[in-house]
Amino acid sequence: MFTYYMPTRIYAGENAVQKNAEALVLGSRAMIVTGAHSGKKSGALDDVLAVLQEKSIPALVYDKIENNPTIESAVLGGRAAREFGADFLIGIGGGSPLDAAKAIAVYAANPPAEGSDFEMMDIFKGTFRNAPLPMAAIPTTAGTGSETTHYSILTLHSIKNKQSFSSPLVFYKSAFLDGRYTVKLPLQVARNTAVDAMSHLLEGFTDTRASAATDYIALEGLRIIGPRLSKLKNGGLTTEDCTALLWAASLGGIVIAQTGTTIVHSMGYPLTYYKDIPHGMANGLLLGEYLRRTAEVLPEKVNSALSALGFGTLSEYCMTLQELLPCGESFTKEELENWTENTIKSKNVAICPFPVTRADEIDIFKACLL
Ligand code: NAP
Ligand code: FE
Repeated sequence: MFTYYMPTRIYAGENAVQKNAEALVLGSRAMIVTGAHSGKKSGALDDVLAVLQEKSIPALVYDKIENNPTIESAVLGGRAAREFGADFLIGIGGGSPLDAAKAIAVYAANPPAEGSDFEMMDIFKGTFRNAPLPMAAIPTTAGTGSETTHYSILTLHSIKNKQSFSSPLVFYKSAFLDGRYTVKLPLQVARNTAVDAMSHLLEGFTDTRASAATDYIALEGLRIIGPRLSKLKNGGLTTEDCTALLWAASLGGIVIAQTGTTIVHSMGYPLTYYKDIPHGMANGLLLGEYLRRTAEVLPEKVNSALSALGFGTLSEYCMTLQELLPCGESFTKEELENWTENTIKSKNVAICPFPVTRADEIDIFKACLL
């Protein structure tokens, strides 16, 4: 038995925002949640502001979202949305602003209890007094698939790690995929984010919650990314390629919204927290060893995923990953061992296709990083 749920309406293609303005405008006062660069550099912010102006919708541009957003940043964003009186949000950016917008939507609708100055609500429980504000998403990286998931990953300095919350109430109502917004991405950001999308598709395809529906979608996503890997390596992606990669990333989101992610993600978080390694690159550094171990228990699945990507063998695929992800960072045995104290507690461990102990995680880290 399996179940499948994905309520986000997707508009894909050039000028998707302008052509579907009614799906972008979800209320009467908008707060645009974005990063310092992504909204402006992608051109998406100008397109959105033009649509809102034409419809006489007042808008606050909130461009304070940092990479790997913190919970504090989401609380502040929620306050800004309340002060402005926003009744809907538009997230523009990579996974960082798109995830932050989900938490901001929750905090905006759930002010501190009377007599308190602080938002005490534990967002990680995933239950809220009031429904979050409705949201529209415009991804400017083709990677996280945040536009089609009900997850938001926040940095928590209190635990020196990242933690996700999820709720069906934070699915985006609409998402707009336009390759014009990603075609000028710095090549290394395009590579890292494409590897994140691949990681979602591969992890979702192989974890214990995979189903007939997600397998079908995951293979399609991999078939879209595979032929574009050489352009990701050497440059030359066209706008059409970029819209296709955005679609593949959304497919990755659709898959993990059903299946979750595995130890590739949970073990990648400390690489980002302690070493500032971008999220997609962190996954990519661990993906080869994950697939090698998965092939011992699910050889046919790993072969069909590799062939959907256009590879004959796992070692050819690992070579391509290495070419896409130059990582100059060095690691010590001690830090890798320390990180596993937390990573082994992740719920992602339980859905791995092979059994994982703390000693296994140490071995995986060592095989990939030393
Ligand atoms: P990101 O942190 O959103 O962005 C990386 C960098 O690229 C930022 O400096 C950003 O600028 C810049 N950028 C984005 N779009 C651009 C554009 N079109 N042109 C020029 N620069 C651009 O990276 P990401 O990999 O997309 O997202 C990573 C986050 O998503 C992590 O926090 C990760 O944990 C999370 N994630 C979420 C899910 C989920 O299911 N919700 C899944 C996987 C990962 P700005 O400074 O303006 O932002
Ligand atoms: Fe990811």
